[in-house]
Amino acid sequence: MKKLMYFAMLTVISCALLLAGCGNKSAGNSSEDLSTGTAEAAVKVTMLNVGQGDAILVETGSQTVLIDTSDVDERKKLESELKKANVSKIDKLILSHPHADHIGGVDVVLKNYPVGEIYDNGMISTNKLFINYVKAAKEQNIPRKGLKAGDVLDLGNGVTFKVLYPTAELVETATKADKEAAETKKKGYKHDPNNESVVGILNYKSFNMFFTGDAEGPVEKKLLSTDKDVLSAQVLKSPHHGSKTGSTMNFLKAMNPKDVLISCGEGNSYGHPNDEALQNYSEMKMNVYRTDLNGTIVLTTDGKKYIIKGEK
Ligand SMILES: [Zn+2]
Repeated sequence: MKKLMYFAMLTVISCALLLAGCGNKSAGNSSEDLSTGTAEAAVKVTMLNVGQGDAILVETGSQTVLIDTSDVDERKKLESELKKANVSKIDKLILSHPHADHIGGVDVVLKNYPVGEIYDNGMISTNKLFINYVKAAKEQNIPRKGLKAGDVLDLGNGVTFKVLYPTAELVETATKADKEAAETKKKGYKHDPNNESVVGILNYKSFNMFFTGDAEGPVEKKLLSTDKDVLSAQVLKSPHHGSKTGSTMNFLKAMNPKDVLISCGEGNSYGHPNDEALQNYSEMKMNVYRTDLNGTIVLTTDGKKYIIKGEK
């Protein structure tokens, strides 16, 4: 009898875990029947399994968009993940900020794929990787544009990416200081690249996913003061690989996401994701998907329902 009870309990626990892991959700708060287990794959967001860095593929059915390219040491992984995803061209390459774990693979992307346009935070950087891709883009005649709050990118098929950060004011101040410094050979603007990350909302019908780059608490605080009414999203791209510097409770409460996707390397030396961030996600009762544990993570949505599946 005891044994039977044990099995019954195990079954209940397994079912609960399965339900949590399956991630078949409604984008709204409606109580639609989600038992079919599929969402029409009109739009697909893939968090590529690229070790310690970010690289996220957005396929809208009309355009292929890559957000970040992971690190220099992870180029092989990026190449194989893009191959696995059957990518033949990249219409838009969005680079959140000029840190190596986000722009380290740009050269591989520019070498292997035709790229339509490159978008970054519009600021000047002394990072060699940044200087190299600006040069490569010029050589290949790929337009490079800076993104700032208020910009809306059309990703085709009714999908948009609305930029919330950096502000035009920040871009202008930093660029002015850097240009002046270049002329006078003085030190330029004191950049804080994580907190200059391109932050925005991917929208498709009633589905919203929030992209953060490596933005930290100060950006979250700023957005709470300027954009609280538009922060709502069902899915969050974990800021800064789940570092404790971001994912503050106030921010999570305002957004109220159901699921969070974390890109981080297995056994990484930074301790990403951090326990504090995970604790906050747990307090918010969010489902957590991690590339270090789940491998490549694929989200598909028809603009109403969405499904998230980890490779493992
Ligand atoms: Zn990073």
